[in-house]
Amino acid sequence: MSMARSILIASNNAHKLQEFQEIFGQCGARDIELLTPQSLGISLDPDETADTYAGNARIKALAFHKPGLRVMADDSGLEVDALGGAPGIRSARYHRNARNGDGCVALLKDLAGVPEDLRTARFRAVIVLVEPGGEEHVFEGVCEGSIGFDKRGTGGFGFDPVFRMAGDTRHMAELSSEEKHRISHRGLAGQKAIAFLRLQFGKL
Ligand code: IMP
Repeated sequence: MSMARSILIASNNAHKLQEFQEIFGQCGARDIELLTPQSLGISLDPDETADTYAGNARIKALAFHKPGLRVMADDSGLEVDALGGAPGIRSARYHRNARNGDGCVALLKDLAGVPEDLRTARFRAVIVLVEPGGEEHVFEGVCEGSIGFDKRGTGGFGFDPVFRMAGDTRHMAELSSEEKHRISHRGLAGQKAIAFLRLQFGKL
């Protein structure tokens, strides 16, 4: 296998791996081979101890990196203004700690009584790309919206059933994956990373 146009996606999250496969496919980047930890027989689950998305993405990317390998990791979360920006970098934990693991129901409960105009929120994703020689690059994507009053849709994962995109009445989980990736935080950060990779590969 040529490592020149391959990238290891440093994530054990099956939803994220699938989304990155789809985002790369949708951006016409099918010539870039995406490797998964499983496909390389790597089993690592580094502690995300940083207090920023970029810091945590960097921890994940560097944990999987070795010379000659290009690695990409993302860290993401939902920032709810009425909760002072929480759960933010603790979004995965918020789901884990919620009753039945359902962070959407927990969030609707936390926002009970909060009126429409104060329910603004955003998804943020930060990608850290570590080049084969160890050089690091950071790409960020933000998707503005608000938290609805119920769960809707069956697509996506995490908070998608309760998140409404700005300027749309639908919840994220009601979109096709293609629509989601066009406007989502991960889709936007991914598009920036792919544009950068195209320039890098042009140099190979
Ligand atoms: P991490 O980036 O793996 O630390 O976890 C991010 C957490 O943020 C997920 O477990 C979800 O709760 C939430 N999240 C991040 N991106 C999305 C998304 O695209 N849809 C819904 N929830 C998301």
